[in-house]
Amino acid sequence: MLESSIVGSLPKPAWLAQPNMLKAPWRLSGHELIEAQNDAVRLVILEQEEAGMSTVTDGEVRRRHYIWGFLDGLTGIDTEALATARSRGGRYSDTTQVARIVGPVERRGPVLLEACRFARDATSRRLKVTMPGPMTIVDSVSDEHYGTDRKTLAMRFAAILNAEARELSAAGADVIQFDEPCFNIYLNEVEAWGIEALEVCMDGVSATRAVHICYGYGTPAVLAWKTRNTDWGHYGVTFPLLARSTVDQVSVECAASGVNLAVLRALDGKDVLLGAIDVGTELVESPDSVATRIRRALEHVPAARLFPCTDCGLVPRSREASRGKMRALAEGAAIVRAELALVGSRP
Ligand code: ZN
Repeated sequence: MLESSIVGSLPKPAWLAQPNMLKAPWRLSGHELIEAQNDAVRLVILEQEEAGMSTVTDGEVRRRHYIWGFLDGLTGIDTEALATARSRGGRYSDTTQVARIVGPVERRGPVLLEACRFARDATSRRLKVTMPGPMTIVDSVSDEHYGTDRKTLAMRFAAILNAEARELSAAGADVIQFDEPCFNIYLNEVEAWGIEALEVCMDGVSATRAVHICYGYGTPAVLAWKTRNTDWGHYGVTFPLLARSTVDQVSVECAASGVNLAVLRALDGKDVLLGAIDVGTELVESPDSVATRIRRALEHVPAARLFPCTDCGLVPRSREASRGKMRALAEGAAIVRAELALVGSRP
């Protein structure tokens, strides 16, 4: 009960890439890079195990960026010569640097399979593999080849993601998670085709199926938006749709966003990965404050369905803060678990 895990990413060691920098270039190349990435994966898995995470990831330390790390394995996409586009509905910034679709997008072979097998061999804990969701991919690229609508493009990526997810699941991934921060933004599209695209991704996948929804890393622009925002009505649209979908788990940013936790009631029947750790600050939460966040969520979600988690990826944080935050997460969950056991043992 109340088993803890992280959303996906962790900071890379300084010998692999520059810390505290999104999309930081690699410090090594060729065989040296692969060896360094392997070492980093072993380290981040060990750190999650030591902190008390029940499900672990490879920290996404093989990816410069959570979306590009997948796109780089496909044909027809340029993640080096970037374009400028209005992403995320312009909510956090007017324009963003995005990858370009410059030719037919195809998956000629597995993208994350070798990485998944390596992580599988490195841990006996439950293993989660994350991939960008189709709506978020479409919102993060400039299509210079197809010239089609967003739904058609998303469905192309959904079919590719599904082929990958099936192979990852067969290779021993216990959880496959699709990251869809855009589910917070394009509500009409979520309803019109976003859930449909997610279902295509998950079709025939025997691993636990998860979707992660958030407001992005705690960059200054995102923090400014979160601080201003008081309207959480978008969950009234997305959560009932997800509750009717075949997804098993929904990961929701709840610590930094200040979202009214009553919205979680609409996820009845699904596991809730409760964001109980703010990834936008180096300040390490106390286990007591994490416990308070979990108790508040328990007013709306049954304990058997609640899984304390981070708000989003920890990649922008220092390694020290990340370790502290993971420990606080596990210790906070343990405090509440002990309270629940005490209540359960009373005659
Ligand atoms: Zn996120």
